Parts: sequence; structure tokens; C-alpha cells
Amino acid sequence: MNTLGIFGGGQLARMLALAAAPLGVRCRVYEPGAEPCAAPYADIVRADWDDRAALASFASGLSAATFEFENVPTASVEAVAHTVPIRPSPAALAVAQDRLSEKQCFNGLGLATPHFIAVDDLAGLKRAVEALALPAVLKTRRLGYDGKGQFVLRAGADIERAWQTLGGVPLILEAFVPFARELSVIAVRGLDGDFRPWALTQNWHRDGVLALSLAPAPDPRGLARRASVIAERLAVHLNYVGVLTVELFEHDDQLLVNEMAPRVHNSGHWTIEGAQTSQFANHVRAVLGLALGTTDARGPAAMINFVGAMPSRDAALRVPGLNWHDYGKTPKPGRKLGHATLIADDAAELRRRLQLLQGALDSSVDVAPLLDALAQ
Ligand code: AMP
Repeated sequence: MNTLGIFGGGQLARMLALAAAPLGVRCRVYEPGAEPCAAPYADIVRADWDDRAALASFASGLSAATFEFENVPTASVEAVAHTVPIRPSPAALAVAQDRLSEKQCFNGLGLATPHFIAVDDLAGLKRAVEALALPAVLKTRRLGYDGKGQFVLRAGADIERAWQTLGGVPLILEAFVPFARELSVIAVRGLDGDFRPWALTQNWHRDGVLALSLAPAPDPRGLARRASVIAERLAVHLNYVGVLTVELFEHDDQLLVNEMAPRVHNSGHWTIEGAQTSQFANHVRAVLGLALGTTDARGPAAMINFVGAMPSRDAALRVPGLNWHDYGKTPKPGRKLGHATLIADDAAELRRRLQLLQGALDSSVDVAPLLDALAQ
């Protein structure tokens, strides 16, 4: 029996623990917040990030430790790294924690990104706006997620307001990319260097939060291969072990790297039912040094996020190919509470099932972008 440590106890830890159980792996979660939703399936150490004694008892007897989100303080990870292998490595985590260092890392590997400039004060912001032109996106370098810590500047008058909203911490200004599509590539790398990507995924966000995913993404231009090369170059450079997600903008026949997530990712939830081995199972296998499972898709899959409220379940369950995931969290505006994944043997059948699902769900959930993408 292995015990795997996970920093963070949200839905990603919950789904890791669910995937770990059939492998004979028990998960132990470190989480400062109350009511971690991984609690029914994992042992919980509830303590502040800097509680040395709690970190030591968390680390005791672990085969390896990993994290479910990138904002774990590096000091907490390093406190455990003396006794337990951390996978992916603290160095990979550190790159992903800072939007500037990750973009510099991408460019250093020859990977294109939106143009960006580091911003430390209001005068610097004004200079950066002049250099990049508007529209542009101002982001905090650290601790941003789900569109938080971001401000889209459209006119000169926005500069002061953007500075008042976000200023005082290190920032980065990015050129606004009028992308054709948002895509992500999720891949896993084993301890022995075995690298396997899942199907390229197309994503739709609402208010900065992932709303819908479709995999495999329609791919008339052969972007899947290029996306996989990007992920592999990064993974090899970082000597990466575990699941890695790279978020991409498709723009003018180019793939621009927006950011990386050194972990399992919401846009890979479809792999639970839609791939031969899920991102969660393969992450557990990778970080424990086990052989990876095949990442081939079983067929097309669509993922619908439930944010702020869970729709009613019972009518949705009548739709063939529907898989329901309720994270058991207390509803709050903007909070991810669950998701559904719809699978089918082909795109036409997936579209028909999505139409049935739209009828079964209330109007708070809109699957129209998925229907449009599948109609093309
Ligand atoms: P991020 O936290 O960087 O993933 O940003 C959240 C979302 O904001 C992305 O998924 C995009 O929809 C949008 N976004 C972020 N950066 C840019 C950009 N440079 N140009 C256009 N849209 C962006």
C-alpha cells in the first residue's frame, strides 16, 4: 500500500484520490481551509501552510507528494522535500507560480507567447501600454487563477483604474490576443521519461472561468501534433514528472502559449470517462514511478462545468453517455461545484446527446458553443 501526499484538498485532490484507490494507493491531503471536498476519500491534515509540525506529520510515511494547485507556498513544499520525493519538482512548481518566469521559460525554449512586459509601477505600466498598444491584459505575476488578478485595458482611461485595482504587487502586461480558439494540451511524463499526450482539447471560458471543453478538438490544421511537441519540449526541459497542462491560444495559424499548469487540470476532466486512462490515474502512476496507461480517447467527449449552482441531476441522467460529478461543495457564486462529461461513439451522436442534455438542464447551462463546434 502506497500513501500519496497531496497539497490542497479541492476537487482535483478528490478526483486524484478516487483514481488512486483502485491502484491500492491511499491519499493524504494537506489543506488549511475548512471542509475540503476531498475529505470523504482521503485522510486530511488540516493546518496552516507554515505549521512545521503538521507538515512533518503529513510527510511521515509518504511514498511521494504532489500538489493540486500551483499556489502552494514553496516553503511548505520544501519543508517536506527533505524526506519525500516531490513530483513534479519544486523547481517546475516555481516556474509556473510566476507568470513572468513561465513566459520567459517558454520563449527561451522557442515557444511563442503573447507579447509581454513586466510592470512594477504606474510609469512602467504607461510605458508598457505604449509599447504593446491597447487592448492589453494586466495580470498579477503571482497567485492569479480563474481570471482573478486580471484587468483588460481597452482605452487610455483604463490605465489608472487598472493600476488602482491591481497595483502594488509585481505585474505583467500582455498584448490582448484576438484568438480564434482556446486550446489546451494535457500530457503526462513518467519517472523514466515516457511522454504521452491526451487528445487536444478546445475550451470556452465565461468570466475567466472554464465553462466547456471538447475533445478531441476539431483539428483541420494538424495542431494536435504541434501542441504535443510544445508540451514535450517543456516537460523535458523541466525534467517533469506527472501531468502537465499547457493552455494555448490559436491565432493566425499560430499556437501561442498562455500558461502552464503543473498539475491535473479542469480541461482534462473529460479523460475520466473519455480516455483509456484518465489524467488522474496517470498522474498517480507517474508520481509513484509506475508505468503509464494509454492516453487514447475512447471517442469524442464534451465537458460542462457547473459554476455557482448545480443544475438538477435526475433529468440529465436520462441522457445516454452522461457522467455526473458533484464535488459536494457548498454553493457560492463563481465556485466550481461539479461537472458533467458526455461521451459518444462519434461527433454526430455526441451532438445529438448534447441537444438532449440542453433540454434536460435548466437555462443556467448553455452548451451552444459545443453544438456549433460539432456542427462544423
Ligand atoms: P489566464 O488566467 O491567463 O488563463 O486567463 C484567463 C482567461 O483570460 C484566458 O483563458 C483567456 O480567455 C483570457 N486571456 C488571458 N490572457 C489573454 C490575452 N493575452 N489575450 C486575450 N485573452 C486573454
